[in-house]
Amino acid sequence: MAAAAHPLYPHLFAPLDLGFCTLPNRVLMGSMHTGLEDRARDFPRLAAYFAERAAGGVGLMVTGGFAPNISGWLKPFGGKLSWSWETHKHRQVTGAVHAHGSRICLQILHAGRYGYQPLQVAPSRLKAPINPFTPRALSARGVERQIDAFVRSAQLAQEAGYDGVEVMGSEGYLLNQFTAPRTNRRDDAFGGDAARRRRFAVEIVRRIRQACGPDFILIYRLSMIDLVEGGSSWDETVRLAKAAEAAGATILNTGIGWHEARVPTIMHSVPRGAFAFTTKRLMGEVKIPLMTSNRINNPEQGERLIADGAADLVSMARPFLADPEFVAKAAAGRGGEINTCIACNQACLDHVFQNRTASCLVNPRACHETELNYRPAAKPRTIAVVGAGPAGLAAATIAAGRGHRVTLFETSHEIGGQFNLAKRIPGKEEFHETLRYFRRQIELTGIELRLDTQADATALAGFDEVVLATGIRPRQVGFPGARHPKVVSYLDVLTGRVVPGRKVAIIGAGGIGFDVAGFLVHEGPSSALDAGRWRAEWGVDLGYGENRGGLAPTPRAPVRALHPGPKPAAREVWLLQRSPGKPGAGLGKTTGWVHRAALKARGVRMLGGVEYLGVDAAGLHVRIDGQLQTLPADHVVTCAGQEPYRPLAAELEASGRSFHVIGGADIAAELDAKRAIAQGSRIAAAL
Ligand code: FAD
Ligand code: NAP
Ligand code: SF4
Repeated sequence: MAAAAHPLYPHLFAPLDLGFCTLPNRVLMGSMHTGLEDRARDFPRLAAYFAERAAGGVGLMVTGGFAPNISGWLKPFGGKLSWSWETHKHRQVTGAVHAHGSRICLQILHAGRYGYQPLQVAPSRLKAPINPFTPRALSARGVERQIDAFVRSAQLAQEAGYDGVEVMGSEGYLLNQFTAPRTNRRDDAFGGDAARRRRFAVEIVRRIRQACGPDFILIYRLSMIDLVEGGSSWDETVRLAKAAEAAGATILNTGIGWHEARVPTIMHSVPRGAFAFTTKRLMGEVKIPLMTSNRINNPEQGERLIADGAADLVSMARPFLADPEFVAKAAAGRGGEINTCIACNQACLDHVFQNRTASCLVNPRACHETELNYRPAAKPRTIAVVGAGPAGLAAATIAAGRGHRVTLFETSHEIGGQFNLAKRIPGKEEFHETLRYFRRQIELTGIELRLDTQADATALAGFDEVVLATGIRPRQVGFPGARHPKVVSYLDVLTGRVVPGRKVAIIGAGGIGFDVAGFLVHEGPSSALDAGRWRAEWGVDLGYGENRGGLAPTPRAPVRALHPGPKPAAREVWLLQRSPGKPGAGLGKTTGWVHRAALKARGVRMLGGVEYLGVDAAGLHVRIDGQLQTLPADHVVTCAGQEPYRPLAAELEASGRSFHVIGGADIAAELDAKRAIAQGSRIAAAL
C-alpha cells in the first residue's frame, strides 16, 4: 500500500523510484567543497559532518568535488580519487552515511582550466580570465586518458561504498569547457560542431554506466545556462540532456553559470529560485528525473517548484550547512524551526576561496561537529545575557538549549541588534530569517526575554554567570565640520530618522558603507524579491534568445553581461575611503564584485585615497591625488567603523563580578555576524 502523502509538502516528501532504488524524498544535499576533502586526516571530520546530515533525514547527498587525476586538481594536492588505496578513507564517509540509512554519491570534478595549479589541461589552450595559469591543450590521446580517469574514479567510488557518482558537467569546469564553443576550438572528434563538442561528456557518462553497472546512481550536472559569451545555446543544452540520458544518466542536476560569469548566481541579492526556469524548460524533453538548484532555501519553495512542474527534485547545498536537520524539521511540520541559510557566503564559499575549512555564519558547528558540541549542562545554572544582537542571541539560545536558565536583556523593543539594520538593505531580506529562527528558539528553550530593558549591574546581581553582548557604537569622525547638521550617521539613515538629499557623500567604504550606498541608490521594491526584474537588471535571458549562454542582448552592446547590474540612480552618491586603492577590496571574495558592479551601474562614484578636509554649507571638501575638490553633498553619512560598547564592564569590574564579553562589545575591529555568532556559540558551549 502506498504511504499517505505528507500533509504539508506532498510533492517534496513523495518517494522517487529510480528503478533499482527508491529515494525517500525529493531533496538532495548538493555538492559543496568544505576543505575537508583534501587530507586523509580530515576524513573523520568529513564523515561526522555527513553523518549528522544523514541523521537529519537527507535522502541523498553528494560530496564535494574529487578530481579523477592530478591534472584535474582544483589546487595542488586537492581531493582526488584515482588509486585504490585512496578508497580506504572514503569508507569512513560512506559507512557513516549508510549507518543512518541515507545514500551518498561522490562528485567527480575535473577543474580543467579552472585548476589553480600548473598541470591543468583543457580542450584548447585558452587561459580562464579568473586564473593566472594557462592550460595545456589535450591531444586526442590525452582526451581518451581523461575519459579513462573519470571511469576509474567512478569504479573506485563504487568500491569505496558510494551509491553513485555525480559527474560535474557545469560551472565552467572541464566538461563544460568541452561543450561550449567559448573554450573548445578543437577540430577533431571532440570539437568542431556541437555533437563533437558534447562527445567528451557523453562518452564519460556512457563508459561509467558500462563500468559500474545498472544499479549505480549516475547524476549528470548539466549547465542549463552558462551566463558567458560563447556558452551553449538552448538547443545544444537540450541535445546534451538527451544524449546524457541515452548514455545512462539516472538524474540530471542543474548547474547555473560559469565561475567566470559576471552574473551573480547564489548570493542573497539573487532572488529565491531565480534560475528554476531553466530546469522547468527542460522538463518533458527527457524521461529521467530533473533536479533544480540555486537559491532554494526553504521547504515551501521546494514543494512549490515540484508541484508547479519546474523539477522532479530540488538540490540544496548551503541550507544543509545552516541546518543539518532541515529535512527532519520539515517532515515533522516544524519548518519554522529551520535555521535558514541567508546566502551570505561568508563562512562557506569565502572560506573555501581563502583555503580555510568551510562553516556557516548562522551555524558555526558546520564542519566542526567533532569539536563544537552543545551537550546538556552537567549542572544547570542561572545565566544573564545582556544584548540580543547576533552574539547574545547565539549565546542565550545555546546555553538555554543545554539546560541553563537564561534571562536575555535587550534595551530595544525587539531582538536582533544590528541585524535589524542589515535586513533593511535591499538584497539582504534573508536576514529576517535568522531573526525568525532566534525568536522561535527563545520560545522553545524557555528563555526569559526582557525587551525594553537596559540591564545594569543591579539587575545582574544574583546570576551565576553574566555574558555581555552589548555590541558597538559607531565611530565618530574628527575632521573640521564633523558636527555640521548635514553630517549624519548610518544609524540615522537606516532607521529612517534622516532621509538624505539627492547628493550624498559616504565616509567609509567598508561593509556598512557599501550597504548604505546600495540603500541610497535603490529605487522601488527590492529586485531580490522580484526575479523578473532582477533577471532584466543582470541581463539573464529567460527566453534564451539570440545570444549563447542565456545572456540578453542590449542596444549598447551585443551582450548585456558586459554591462551588468541595475540602471543609474537618480541620487548622486560618492563612496569614499582614506586608504589608497579600489574601495571594496575587503568585501567577501564571492560577493564583493557584485556589490561593486551594482553600485557602479547605479553611477556611485567609489574613490580611494581621499583626505577629508571639512564639511560646510557647500559640501564635503576633500583632497584626492593632491587636487582640492568640493563634493556638493546635501548630506555626509559616516560609516567609519565601530567601537566596542560595554559600559557595564566597568560597573561589574568595580563590584568584583566576573563576566564574559562577546561580539562587538569584545572587539569591534573586523567584527561581523560570523564572528559574533561563533563567539556566542562557543562561550555557551563552555558554560
Ligand atoms: P549588536 O548587533 O550591536 O547587538 C548588541 C545589542 O545589545 C543591541 O541590540 C543593543 O540594543 C543591546 N544592548 C546594549 N546595551 C545593552 C544593555 N545595557 N542592556 C540590554 N541590551 C543592551 N555582518 C555580517 O556578518 N554580514 C553582513 O552582511 C552584515 N551586514 C550588516 C549591515 C548593516 C547595515 C549593519 C549595521 C551591520 C551588518 N553586519 C553584517 C554586522 C553585524 O550585524 C554585526 O557584526 C553584529 O550585529 C554584531 O553582533 P553583536 O551581538 O556583537 O552586537
Ligand atoms: P569597516 O569594514 O571596518 O569599515 C570602516 C570604514 O571606515 C573603512 O572604509 C575605513 O576606511 C573608514 N574609517 C575608519 N576609521 C575612520 C575615521 N576615523 N575617519 C574616517 N573614515 C574611517 O566597518 P563597517 O563598514 O562599519 O562594518 C562593520 C562590520 O560589519 C565590518 O567588519 C563588516 O565585516 C561587517 N559587515 C559586513 C558586511 C558584508 O556584506 N559581509 C556588510 C556590512 C557590514 P579608511 O580607513 O581607508 O578611511
Ligand atoms: Fe548560508 Fe551564509 Fe551559512 Fe554559507 S555561511 S551556508 S551562505 S548562511
